[in-house]
Amino acid sequence: MVPEENSSIINFEMARIAFKVLQGSLFSLWRLEENSVFPSILAALFVIEWECSMSLALDEEKCLESNIEDTEVGVSMCSSSKGCLEEEMHLKVNLAESIHVFCQSLSPSFWDNLHSCTLNRLATILPQCVRYAVFQTRDLHAERTSILCSEWVVDMLKLTCLDHRNLESFFDVLLSEGEHWPLWLMPSLQNGHLSVKVQLDPDITDEIELKHERFVAFVDRLILKLGFSEVVLGIPGNIQSATSQSIDITSPVSSLSRVWVAVNRKCLKILPYVMTSIIKQFSALNNGDSSYADLVRKSIQSWLDATISCLSSSSREVPVQDIEDWMQVVLSCFPLRITGGARELVAVVEREISDTERSLMLTLFQKYQIFYGSTASSLVTSGTAVSTTVELLGVKLTAVLVGYCWSNLKENDWHFVFRMVFKCIESSVLLVEEMTDGINDATINQVSSEDALEKLKLVVGTTDKLTLSLAESALVTMCQLNHLCNIQEAENSQCVQLIKSGDYAESNDKMVESVLRLFLASGVSEAITKSCSEEASSVIGSSRHAYLHFWELVASFIKNAPLQSRKSALESMELWGLTKGSVSGLYSILFSSQPIFHLQLAAFSLLLSEPFCQLSLVKNYSMGESCSSAQQSGTSQSAELMPDSDKTVHLREELSDLIEFPTSELLKTDLTARDRVDVFIAWSLLLSHLQTLPASSSIKGDVLQYIQEKVSPCILDCIFQHIPVKAAAPNGKKKDTELAPEAEAAAKASKNAIATCSLLPYLESLWPIGTLQMASLAGSLYGMMIRLLPSFVRTWFTTLRDRSLSYSIESFTKQWCSPPLLLDEFSQVKESVYGDENFSVSVNRSAFEIVATYKKEETGIDLVIRLPSCYPLRHVDVECTRSLGISEVKCRKWLLSLTSFVRSQNGAIAEAIRTWKSNFDKEFEGVEECPICYSILHTSNHNLPRLACKTCKHKFHGACLYKWFSTSNKSTCPLCQTPF
Ligand SMILES: [Zn+2]
Ligand SMILES: [Zn+2]
Repeated sequence: MVPEENSSIINFEMARIAFKVLQGSLFSLWRLEENSVFPSILAALFVIEWECSMSLALDEEKCLESNIEDTEVGVSMCSSSKGCLEEEMHLKVNLAESIHVFCQSLSPSFWDNLHSCTLNRLATILPQCVRYAVFQTRDLHAERTSILCSEWVVDMLKLTCLDHRNLESFFDVLLSEGEHWPLWLMPSLQNGHLSVKVQLDPDITDEIELKHERFVAFVDRLILKLGFSEVVLGIPGNIQSATSQSIDITSPVSSLSRVWVAVNRKCLKILPYVMTSIIKQFSALNNGDSSYADLVRKSIQSWLDATISCLSSSSREVPVQDIEDWMQVVLSCFPLRITGGARELVAVVEREISDTERSLMLTLFQKYQIFYGSTASSLVTSGTAVSTTVELLGVKLTAVLVGYCWSNLKENDWHFVFRMVFKCIESSVLLVEEMTDGINDATINQVSSEDALEKLKLVVGTTDKLTLSLAESALVTMCQLNHLCNIQEAENSQCVQLIKSGDYAESNDKMVESVLRLFLASGVSEAITKSCSEEASSVIGSSRHAYLHFWELVASFIKNAPLQSRKSALESMELWGLTKGSVSGLYSILFSSQPIFHLQLAAFSLLLSEPFCQLSLVKNYSMGESCSSAQQSGTSQSAELMPDSDKTVHLREELSDLIEFPTSELLKTDLTARDRVDVFIAWSLLLSHLQTLPASSSIKGDVLQYIQEKVSPCILDCIFQHIPVKAAAPNGKKKDTELAPEAEAAAKASKNAIATCSLLPYLESLWPIGTLQMASLAGSLYGMMIRLLPSFVRTWFTTLRDRSLSYSIESFTKQWCSPPLLLDEFSQVKESVYGDENFSVSVNRSAFEIVATYKKEETGIDLVIRLPSCYPLRHVDVECTRSLGISEVKCRKWLLSLTSFVRSQNGAIAEAIRTWKSNFDKEFEGVEECPICYSILHTSNHNLPRLACKTCKHKFHGACLYKWFSTSNKSTCPLCQTPF
């Protein structure tokens, strides 16, 4: 037998004996009531009973667990220990029951006749025990604990019939602040019940948070059982039993709440939090006319009145603390919820309010404006700082007013709103920019990296939290204003006219630009720190997590920022001259070590949009331009003779590092590992760039050549790790419904990506990252790749060694990807215009054929491009079906060149035909082909042969010549053997 079990039996046995002694002597002890031991003994009665019930609950839990283990393992519990547990439980049940019976047997007069000091002591000891049970019980679920503990409180209160004063002090102790309960003071309205988490102090641990949750569950349960008035206001619920006539329930609620506030200041602080949970139930009740709802409604009105009168009196008469507390209470009654996810955030009001409430709210808002004006001026003159909390609450109040009463706000109210929002946002931008400046300095003048890290932590640590909180609420208001401008029902209202014109419209673009600057500055500071150390950059990354909601709101404005704002923000960042630029900043946010999903999406969309897209893809973009223009003029042989590595285009390192990430390493990572996610996002960015670059641009050709030559197609191995193709392949009998969920998600995603050419929906739904989300992204990447990089994918596919895998991939592609892809290819060919009356292209969809016809006078030729049903994994075939008056050599040459253009094409077939057509035209113009590849335009980069041999005068493609030099290991002309 385990000694612990033994000792607990002994403990209960001792308790049983003690109880028997007590049973016999209680009434003699009663005589000595003044003795301080007596209340403790009474308290012990309750505590022992509670201990028993708690311990029983724990035993049950244990039994349940061991039973589950039993059935799982198939080994029954050792009978002796089972018997022991049963014996112990039996003991506890008996003890609990006998105490319960004894307590119930004490007549009501026993409790009534107790000295009020005794009851008062009881009302202090017992809540502490309950609190201990709520906070310290580790092995029982919060739900279970709260049910149990609230039952204790209800039973105890029923038995003891505490009067109003004692009841109040009971709840005072029960609900008082403590070391585990520091969160009372920080209720926040705009994020509903989640707000408490957001406003946690950084030093609050998970454990404390857990305790907090347990306590909230308990208070919730208690309010459910005893009613809000008893728990919060301290009105005895058993008043009908007429033990205490001190308070009249029929009196107006307002007087009650005044009584309660006067007596019980602590409750005023608790109230906002309690209200946030009550309001939730309240809106669920749909403003029903139950007496409960009525009580809540009346209370809210009386609190509004109280707050108005607080703000009305001169600021010296009413303590600032009171104003703060009352405003907190009011704000908690009008919650706003932020919803809308990744695409666009919207602030929603959580309940319907009555006309009375609305007009009170408006009065309150006007009083606040006057109050704010007077304190702002007194700040200048007398130097007494207005409470920053009151300022923060004012900004929150503004958000609430815009949310609940926008249609009633007057012109001067709106001006106040605009001013407030503008001021808060501007100061937050200043703050973040100052921080970036500080970080820039810290890294420039660093002595050592430790030194820089210390400075950095200092800069980040001293960030003014209030400014960001103010800006957060201001952004909520801005969010609502934007929403108001977009909703239809508000179309004709006067206030919308006001928002769309005047002050706000002018400053709105300016504010969006400011928010962009703030975003870029924060990214740049992360980029600067990244160049120091990974640890340093994570300091910046995690500092954002402390203001998650603020940053999420910031992100929502960035995605919709107008072009002009983006341009000005970029310009002002470049003028600033920090050690890192805006684009590096955006990449740092996208691939942050502490990623925030909304910010990543915002960075992603900025990197793809003007004016950032030009800078975000290729290193030294302008140099690349001049290089290609030099090629076109054909004068610069030396540029083409540069070593191969210098000649090919260079992606920005942030991108190329991930695109060229060794796939052998990536294959070993977990399916949701950060490296893998980053590589996939980098590919999404690269493919989206390719998709948006104009078909004829030289930069597109350069990037395609880079991919074909420098990037390992084994990235597709990684992609197919996410798609269980073997299950997805149709093997005759299996239906679509039997697909593995990952395969199904991937199949849909690839189909959709081919049809829409967009990866955005799959990035937007990537978080929270799971295997299913990654499968969707992998599927959409595959779809984009076979559409944009068919030759790249084919190279990979033809080198696959695993036969059964390649068969499955082929079936998957054939079923899901090829049909929409072929459809798209055919329609692109159909839409193509070649501007040449001798040349035409037609499509035969049913035969999967494209026919290119050249006809001039008596001569003509038909070249048929036949697409395989699992395009693009299998080769395209080209055939000459008809030729008239054209030499067989020429026919053959055209056929071969069309074949090689179509097969090496990374892009649409229509494009390949177009390139081939211009090759064809050049031939008629008399341009000579490159003697190495027999083509005029190079098949992958579409350059003309320009490098001429000084002796034999033949011209070669740069790329062909390099290949020749490197394979033959000499640098002589392939034709005449003169050194080049
Ligand atoms: Zn060539
Ligand atoms: Zn030569």
